[in-house]
Amino acid sequence: MAVRMGSKGEPAPSRTLVPVQELHDAPLAPLTTFRLGGPADRLITATTDAEVIAAVREADDSGTPLLLIGGGSNLVIGDKGFAGTALVVATEGFSLDGTRLELAAGEVWTDAVARVVEAGLGGIECLAGIPGSAGATPIQNVGAYGQEVASTVTEVVAYDRVARETVTLPNADCAFSYRHSRFKADPGRYVVLRVRFALEDADGMSAPVRYAETARTLGVGVGERVPLAAAREAVLKLRAGKGMVLDPEDHDTWSAGSFFTNPILTDEAFAAFRARVEARLGAGVVPPAYPAGDGYTKTSAAWLIDRAGFTKGYGTGPARISTKHTLALTNRGGATTEDLLALAREVVAGVRDAFGITLVNEPVTVGVSL
Ligand SMILES: Cc1cc2nc3c(=O)[nH]c(=O)nc-3n(C[C@H](O)[C@H](O)[C@H](O)COP(=O)(O)OP(=O)(O)OC[C@H]3O[C@@H](n4cnc5c(N)ncnc54)[C@H](O)[C@@H]3O)c2cc1C
Repeated sequence: MAVRMGSKGEPAPSRTLVPVQELHDAPLAPLTTFRLGGPADRLITATTDAEVIAAVREADDSGTPLLLIGGGSNLVIGDKGFAGTALVVATEGFSLDGTRLELAAGEVWTDAVARVVEAGLGGIECLAGIPGSAGATPIQNVGAYGQEVASTVTEVVAYDRVARETVTLPNADCAFSYRHSRFKADPGRYVVLRVRFALEDADGMSAPVRYAETARTLGVGVGERVPLAAAREAVLKLRAGKGMVLDPEDHDTWSAGSFFTNPILTDEAFAAFRARVEARLGAGVVPPAYPAGDGYTKTSAAWLIDRAGFTKGYGTGPARISTKHTLALTNRGGATTEDLLALAREVVAGVRDAFGITLVNEPVTVGVSL
């Protein structure tokens, strides 16, 4: 049942405008996987689409800044917190009709993947273990191990804060690209309510395995199919070894996963970068290169960070690079957001000095920037 709470958790007066759980001066750190960030003036938890929309409208009508929170696994919130309303989208809904899946925004993504695999359907099995909510998956077009949601999302149902109505955006209107989308490009506009997917029924088999490391782990060639459960388990095992599955006991997972996106360079810029690598690290050292569309090459942020001298476990303070993965910046306990940002800035400057490439952060920053 929806409850409204007053200041510091005290029950609020009965004349509620928005019938949802509400707290004031509420700490946001516990709502993030970094466990970082100061308080929000007001924190609302909404459990139905109607509650979400009412809370968004109320904030918009009063000109109050709004921060949407799902699982808090891609958020870097400043130590001063958020001067406005933080809205936790905690709606529930899992509906499978043949190969058509609809998830409410607040559904826990990795649990939904497990249910889909259990139902014998493919297309998202390699996205197992990604923390956070279903509603946030279209925001940065989550991806891992050769899959991304852009390949299976058919429609996103969202509340449009400009048109002040609920809209249904087909995949083609979502402008999905690598760790990006229309929603990330225009963060103040859409509140995702539901995400619809088209899955594949291949008699209990996975989609063709696209990622070499997964294929090796499964003992198959790239492009082959394996039983769905085997694909999911292989991914979870690989992820756990890199600290990419949440574990409250393991500080390597007090992170936002990859802190930087893999740089995409024009082919000319890549050639210049390659020459710089050879000059610095010696002939024969070849940086990772993946095709990224006509005229573009993607390289590896983890490789850049490592080769610039920031190896696993780097750092002496409470914010350090994960001991399991160079790309994850972590809170070892007791860090502040400023500690984390100081480390991130050091890494960015070091990689720029070494290779002339400026890394871009993947998580969304709130009230702070790199
Ligand atoms: C250990 C670990 C591993 C990870 N591995 C991966 C990975 O393999 N691949 C990958 O792509 N990501 C990965 N991530 C990042 C993160 O899990 C994903 O980006 C995830 O989709 C974020 O979901 P969330 O609900 O936690 O979003 P939040 O962190 O709560 O929010 C992220 C952004 O989305 C917005 N948002 C949240 N909900 C909504 C909504 N309903 N409508 C509109 N906007 C909304 C927020 O305002 C914010 O801007 C990882 C993170 C961690 C901690």
